[in-house]
Amino acid sequence: MHYELKDYIKPKTLEEALKLLHDYKGAAKIIAGGTVIHELSERNLLEGVEYFVDIENLGLNYVRIEKDGLHIGATTTFNQIVNNSLFTKPSYYALYLAAKGVSSYQVRNVATIGGSVCSSISFLDVPNALVALNAKAKLVSLNGERIENVENLFLGMLNPNISEDEILTEIILPLEETKTASYYMKLTERAFDYAIVSVGIKVKLNENGYVENIRTVFGNVQPTPYIENKVYEIAKGKYINEDLIKKIMEEIPSVEPIDSINASAWYKKKVLKVLFRDALKETLEMIS
Ligand SMILES: Cc1cc2nc3c(=O)[nH]c(=O)nc-3n(C[C@H](O)[C@H](O)[C@H](O)COP(=O)(O)OP(=O)(O)OC[C@H]3O[C@@H](n4cnc5c(N)ncnc54)[C@H](O)[C@@H]3O)c2cc1C
Repeated sequence: MHYELKDYIKPKTLEEALKLLHDYKGAAKIIAGGTVIHELSERNLLEGVEYFVDIENLGLNYVRIEKDGLHIGATTTFNQIVNNSLFTKPSYYALYLAAKGVSSYQVRNVATIGGSVCSSISFLDVPNALVALNAKAKLVSLNGERIENVENLFLGMLNPNISEDEILTEIILPLEETKTASYYMKLTERAFDYAIVSVGIKVKLNENGYVENIRTVFGNVQPTPYIENKVYEIAKGKYINEDLIKKIMEEIPSVEPIDSINASAWYKKKVLKVLFRDALKETLEMIS
């Protein structure tokens, strides 16, 4: 262990938790599901931490539809997402698949949607799916609150754009849309491995079946989720057929992938095209 813990505190209100983070700034660490803490300790990233602030009892475990979108509390677990029929609707299906694809059942029982975003790890599934779905995050501190697009919360590997005294309280997804579907696909060596690369897609067609919007995100291609704008540039206003898919495949990825322990940049580049094609076809099938 690379830290000396003085106390493990489990506040009952958000205000109490925010005050603790403020008073012990630099020495307090938030615990949600706690599944990344060992990793942080191993990498010496908990140096100076003296207090764990467990946010399980803050009442941030909910899924509710409001006027401005679908609100998911930060401590909602992956299994709660998988078991909620809202997420099998086409507009949100990418999130369902990403959460369901996290191995194992035990991890899905404790790992939280907020914790996955705040980890800032490029090969995690749920954050990449959220970016594909145009998700926003609400962050609160004693200084006030801010709403950010989820993609703006990643500065680099294990380096979130979140202050030590801030709590991500909820994720907000756009309301369900017609003629819209989303999908998430990852490539792994074995079923329980992390993604070598992943693709999250959300497509909206107009009444005539032409592309109104398409958002594509590649996971583990850059140190942060990579939004592939090329797909929208090529497909906007068009009807998606085999020729168009081939054309897109020639142009993506528009960035040189990073090498990983389990795959070279060269391999990732090749396999991404195929993963994208398959994910896009699955998405379109859900709309028709
Ligand atoms: C065995 C195993 C297998 C896994 N397999 C997969 C997989 O296949 N795919 C995949 O995507 N992931 C996988 N994971 C990773 C998993 O997704 C993450 O560990 C999980 O999402 C982190 O959530 P947590 O609630 O446990 O976060 P925690 O570990 O509690 O916290 C993670 C970080 O975020 C901070 N934090 C947490 N919540 C908040 C908040 N609300 N506001 C501000 N900061 C916060 C913490 O201080 C910490 O720095 C696996 C993990 C394990 C242990």
